[in-house]
Amino acid sequence: MTLLPLSDDTFLFPGAVNSLIFADESGGALLVDTGLDESHARKLLRAVQDAGLTPSAVLNTHSHADHHGGNAFVLRRFPELPVCAPPLEAAIIHFPMLEPLYLYGALPPRELQTKFLLAPSSSARPLEAGTHTLGGVKVELLEVPGHAVQMYAVRRGGVLYAADALFGPDTLAKHPLTFCADSAEQKASAAGLLNLHGITVTVPGHGDPTGDLSELVRLNQESLERTTTGVLEAVRAGAASTDELLARVCDGLGVNMTHPGAALLNRSVLSAHLSELLHLGSIEMKVSGNRLIFAER
Ligand SMILES: [Zn+2]
Repeated sequence: MTLLPLSDDTFLFPGAVNSLIFADESGGALLVDTGLDESHARKLLRAVQDAGLTPSAVLNTHSHADHHGGNAFVLRRFPELPVCAPPLEAAIIHFPMLEPLYLYGALPPRELQTKFLLAPSSSARPLEAGTHTLGGVKVELLEVPGHAVQMYAVRRGGVLYAADALFGPDTLAKHPLTFCADSAEQKASAAGLLNLHGITVTVPGHGDPTGDLSELVRLNQESLERTTTGVLEAVRAGAASTDELLARVCDGLGVNMTHPGAALLNRSVLSAHLSELLHLGSIEMKVSGNRLIFAER
């Protein structure tokens, strides 16, 4: 697979997760997100090499396994490559067990220690948002929290890599419960991207590039609001526990969960929207009959 040019010096390596390649004048390349695993990383490195570029640094936009699982392979080939990430995300990339640990709420059973939830460890340097020169490439790192507790979108010139602050339309249709750790922040981050001027192409973490940033934001906002409304309706149907609410929300949105990992991820999404509704005062949380339940206020 070859790199898809987005501008003179910025390229997309499309995949289940998109990787971005920012080239400098001397043939160095900043790699942004390395994909799920060795298979993605191997193809990414081959495409970078075929384009006459040499990796000079790695940036992980956030700590989900599908965005940094390829680090280990990239670092085996280029052991000296600096890796950086938002500070909290860098901690998880260094101690990846934290991801299934926080999703499960305890040390996860082996069935949940899959590559989708548990990537190999790599050492990422914590990096604050702002303008940085990484591996010879000047980029702007924009804070877009919500999908992950901390996450950066990356901008150079007219190109915006939104990471998972925005999902492509096909991904939204396929996964109506898009992952978020903080749904209110995810909505605010999506809205905030509309304040950027001069963006000519936007690349979501999952999906195709688009020239219409505002339409992509609108689609994501609609999807997030649909989920919040679905969660509120589920609570209005009667006070219930998280698992019962999750079943109601999935039924309402046509989601069919088939494995424990999906149930954990979706339960986190539900919990995020419940937190937002609790904060808004629309619902309350209490313990009744030894059950943690959520009820309409
Ligand atoms: Zn993610």
